[in-house]
Amino acid sequence: MADGLKLEYESRNGWLVLDDRDREEMVRFCEDYKRFLDASKTERDAVDVLVAQAEKNGFRDLNTVGRDEKPLPGSKFYAVNRDKSCAFIIIGKNDPVYGMKMIGSHIDAPRLDFKPRPLYEDSGFALAKTHYYGGIKKYQWVATPLALHGVVYSEMGARKTKITIGEDENDPVLYISDLLPHLAQDQMGKNAASVITAEQLNVIMGSVPSLDCPAVNAEAGSSGDAEDDGHDGGRCDENTVKKALLKLIFDKYGIREADFFRAEIEIVPAAKAKDVGLDRGLIGAYGQDDRVCAYTSFRALLDLDEIPESTLLIYMSDKEEIGSVGNTGARSNWLENLCLEIVSMYDRSYGMLELRRATANTKFLSADVTAAFDPTFPEVSDKLNVAFAGKGIAFEKCTGSRGKSGASDASAQLVSCVLDGLDRDNIPWQLTEMGKVDVGGGGTIAQFMADLGMDVIDCGVPVISMHSPYELTSKADVYWTYRAYVSFLRG
Ligand code: MN
Ligand code: MN
Repeated sequence: MADGLKLEYESRNGWLVLDDRDREEMVRFCEDYKRFLDASKTERDAVDVLVAQAEKNGFRDLNTVGRDEKPLPGSKFYAVNRDKSCAFIIIGKNDPVYGMKMIGSHIDAPRLDFKPRPLYEDSGFALAKTHYYGGIKKYQWVATPLALHGVVYSEMGARKTKITIGEDENDPVLYISDLLPHLAQDQMGKNAASVITAEQLNVIMGSVPSLDCPAVNAEAGSSGDAEDDGHDGGRCDENTVKKALLKLIFDKYGIREADFFRAEIEIVPAAKAKDVGLDRGLIGAYGQDDRVCAYTSFRALLDLDEIPESTLLIYMSDKEEIGSVGNTGARSNWLENLCLEIVSMYDRSYGMLELRRATANTKFLSADVTAAFDPTFPEVSDKLNVAFAGKGIAFEKCTGSRGKSGASDASAQLVSCVLDGLDRDNIPWQLTEMGKVDVGGGGTIAQFMADLGMDVIDCGVPVISMHSPYELTSKADVYWTYRAYVSFLRG
């Protein structure tokens, strides 16, 4: 007999677990989080914001550690990879060979990148060609206010110019047009994947011709008969809008058209993070995949008030949305090299063997969002094995798709170890798989950390409308995910 023993599992509601103090802390935390989102719409912006905040909290650039320096337990460091990926470290009391604790997220998000040669003029508009980044539904990016974030390098990479347009209250925004329904008969009959094509994602940059265009001045009264290039508007077709735009850009930023070849320009939604719903329970914002896990894990490290036993590392990768590739992605050896730095800082005689032991003994939370159950689209989920908004941090034992392909299947030992820690701290959690089997799926950085021999499990905040220009999360989940990361780091 199991008298009084609860045998059946019951999921918990994250809102009902909050006491008054938690609730106040949650509201404050989410206000900070929204400010972070508005200031961090690209991976570069996120790195800048987080490093500045870390420096204020006593974190120091790892590159400044001297060859003979042995950092004391409690020392705080950060490391930045090409301005697009970063890590924050607190040195623990133990030899890192016995394992570290890490949480890794990604700070890139689906968006539209400028093509290398973006600018052109057509029929009175200056436009910019884009190439989308990550998995988007292209039709979601039209007829909505957009912002531009970017960097341009000049002088052999020595001079960096940051550009942000569309974020300030008084800034203009950018825009991609859609067809009016009256003339969209053909378009509306198309498959959703081709309603808006990639080559139609052209950003309207300007529409006012240059006043010092000679053609404009000579124009008055001209019939325009001589035109044969398909442009209307008489003879003033010599890229006068584009020229005016280039002058405007040059006056403000000192950049010429050729400089766009030396640039990374990203188009993102201009909308700001807002509370959603009359009861303010949800947060709507662009790029919560995966900046919600980046911010909650960062704050968990920052808010730690004791010197940890194990060395702690919060990793934020780039390029997750296109397969974790490249030298700022999680497949690169940047994190492994960083671990080698940490190991050799502890003992200068330590090398690759100690590194391998350290990573093999490391526990890693792959902090990434998952799909929340959406009552409007119930058919894609198995209701027993799906995350619900508001029910706490969601753990995914395995990701991947179609027979767990591409998954890092977390071991039952690790799941037990992590969940028991959360139960000890009374933190609501849920276990999930993303979607019904064979409906689809998705990967995270987990498998690349597993390649280093680490024990990895995916966990993070459930999201509604993931990868859309305006994603939704539950404040309760944001808060409990933060608390879960604190609990994991404290151990
Ligand atoms: Mn993600
Ligand atoms: Mn994603």
